[in-house]
Amino acid sequence: KSEEKMLQAKILAENSNRSKSEFLSNMSHELRTPLNAVIGFADILNEEGFGPLNKKQKRFVGNISTSGKHLLKLINEILDLSKIEAGKMEFKCTEFSVKEKFDEIKDILFPVFSKKKIRIEFEIGDGITTIYSDEGKFVQVLYNLVSNAIKFTEEGGFVKVSARKNGDMLQLSVKDTGIGITEEDLMKIFHPFVQVDSFSTRQYEGTGLGLALVDQMVQLMGGEICVFSQPGIGSEFICMIPLKNYDRK
Ligand code: ADP
Repeated sequence: KSEEKMLQAKILAENSNRSKSEFLSNMSHELRTPLNAVIGFADILNEEGFGPLNKKQKRFVGNISTSGKHLLKLINEILDLSKIEAGKMEFKCTEFSVKEKFDEIKDILFPVFSKKKIRIEFEIGDGITTIYSDEGKFVQVLYNLVSNAIKFTEEGGFVKVSARKNGDMLQLSVKDTGIGITEEDLMKIFHPFVQVDSFSTRQYEGTGLGLALVDQMVQLMGGEICVFSQPGIGSEFICMIPLKNYDRK
C-alpha cells in the first residue's frame, strides 16, 4: 500500500517537473520575443533611424535599451539555470579551436576593455589546438569569467587569459589585477543571486547568476572550477575541462 503511494507521489513529481520545464521553455520564448522588440526599436530610435532626437530623448532611449538588455540577460540566465536544474540542458560536442574562441571573446569584449584601458593578454600553451566539447558552453564560461575580470578590475589594470594542457585536461585560467574577493565571500560567489555585498562591489552592475551558471556549465563539461583571490591584489579563476568529452543529453 505504502509502495503504491510512493509510486503515485513519484509520478506526480515527475509530471510536475515535466510541466515545469515545458512552462519554462514556453516562457522563454514568450518573454524574449517582446523584449527583443523593445530593445530593437529603442536601438533604432537611439541611432536616430526615425529622425533626430534631442539630448534628453537620446539619454532616455539609451536607458530603455540598457535596461532591456539587462533584463534579457537575467531572463536568459534564470532560464538556463532552471533548465540545468530540471536536467533538460542539452550537451552537444564538436571539435573546435581554442584560439578561435579566444579571438571571438577578445572581439566581443574589445569595446569594454579598451574603454576601461585594461590590458588583456591571451596565451595558448603547447599542445593545445582543438578541444572536443560543447562549444556554446565553453564560450559562455569564457565570456562570463573574462567579463567579470574586466568588470572588477580598475582602470589601467591587467587581465590574463591562458589555456594549457594538463594531462588530458584543458587548464583554463582567467587572472586579473582587480579588487579581489575576501576568503569569507569566496565560499558564496558560486551560489545563485550572490553579489558580494560591500560598498565597493555594489557599484558594479550584475545579476549574481553568472558564476552559478559558470559552475554548472563547467560541471556539465565534466570539469571543475576553483578560485584564488586576495582582496586588493586580484583573482584567478581556474577551470579544468576534459579535452575530449562525449555527447550526452
Ligand atoms: P555578477 O552578475 O554580479 O557579476 P557573478 O555570479 O558573475 O555575478 O559574480 C558574483 C560575485 O562574485 C560578483 O558580484 C562579485 O562580487 C564577485 N566576483 C566575481 N568575479 C570577480 C572578480 N574577477 N573579481 C572580484 N570579484 C568577483
